[in-house]
Amino acid sequence: MNDVRKKSVPEGAAGEGATVSDPAAGAILTIDLGAIRENYRRLKARLDGPRCAGVVKADGYGLGAGQVAAALAREGCDIFFVAFVSEGIVLRRVLGSVPAIHVLNGVAPGAEGEAEAARLTAVINSVEQLAAWRAAARRAGRKLPAAIQVDSGMARLGMAAVEVEAIAGDPQAFDGIDMTLVMSHLACADEPAHPANEQQRLEFERLRKKLPKAPASLANSSGIFLEPRFHYDLARPGAALYGINPTPAEPNPMLPVVRLQAKVIQTRMLEAGAGVGYGHSFHTPAPLAAATISFGYADGWHRRAASAAWFEGVRLPFLGRVSMDSIILDISALPPGRLKAGNLVELIGPSRTVDQAAGHAGTIGYEILTSLGHRFHRRYLNG
Ligand SMILES: *Cc1c(COP(=O)(O)O)cnc(C)c1O
Repeated sequence: MNDVRKKSVPEGAAGEGATVSDPAAGAILTIDLGAIRENYRRLKARLDGPRCAGVVKADGYGLGAGQVAAALAREGCDIFFVAFVSEGIVLRRVLGSVPAIHVLNGVAPGAEGEAEAARLTAVINSVEQLAAWRAAARRAGRKLPAAIQVDSGMARLGMAAVEVEAIAGDPQAFDGIDMTLVMSHLACADEPAHPANEQQRLEFERLRKKLPKAPASLANSSGIFLEPRFHYDLARPGAALYGINPTPAEPNPMLPVVRLQAKVIQTRMLEAGAGVGYGHSFHTPAPLAAATISFGYADGWHRRAASAAWFEGVRLPFLGRVSMDSIILDISALPPGRLKAGNLVELIGPSRTVDQAAGHAGTIGYEILTSLGHRFHRRYLNG
């Protein structure tokens, strides 16, 4: 087992679950790092001037933060965003000392020492976080980098206007702070015509003028597809790098990144009237060929998202309920004997995009990717 781990996880890679060998796994997750790099290039090409960061929170949207960040670094990306200090510490080990690693949720009280030691950039969301980071700078005996986040109208994270005004009038507010960025986040960027976009931009303008001068950042993936006035000095894409459509009303301008395939465990012929799966929620109306695959809700496929898998372009509907570790497929659309134990059927890939899988499950591609389980064999292409 240790040998397998050493072979399948490159030194320093942060991807959890990258440890299962192909024969031992029930399903194979293929991640095309070349496609992530191409997506990064496509986003950069839209920016024309502003820099482009990489958002790799939640283990790189479930795909392996270390692998993804290393691939982006090879494209010249040297600014990264994670959500938690814990994620930043892991990423620092992968990326070395140079790239900036921002902690979007801010540094939780008590974690300032760890964040400073890992040379992380705090995203400051409140006056309290600013005071704690100032104190950490005093203790460390050096200036500490910080991005000031203002709430321009999402009501989630960042300083409210009154807080911005309070620190704007306080000459000591930025003692020991190296303010590297002022940022905010758009609530409706994936709806280009939504009036909140321009309202947030104007509020961002108003608030950032009260703060010390620093490069500005507003756009996530979808924000990159808004007018250039939303781009500022730095864009912060996540989803689009991973192949999720940043322009849901239009065709996807990004390359697909993920392929998810599950192994067939066994096949069987069912007689008419057979009860299939838990609760016998389905009974065969006629004799039917079925296959059971090594993949279930514990792998991140919601039970309510009953759907289908594909084999060589042929759609194989799910039968009955999704189990924790297995799903039963109707394979009668295939020639008898065509599908065998050990064959791979596709759940995400050319036959069904991440966004389509999300549509079936009543959710968004972000949730599909970050729900993916930790017992797949992970195959990284074009690293
Ligand atoms: C997650 C996040 C991003 C990236 O958003 P995408 O929609 O995935 O591009 C950018 N900025 C902030 C503050 C975020 O929380």
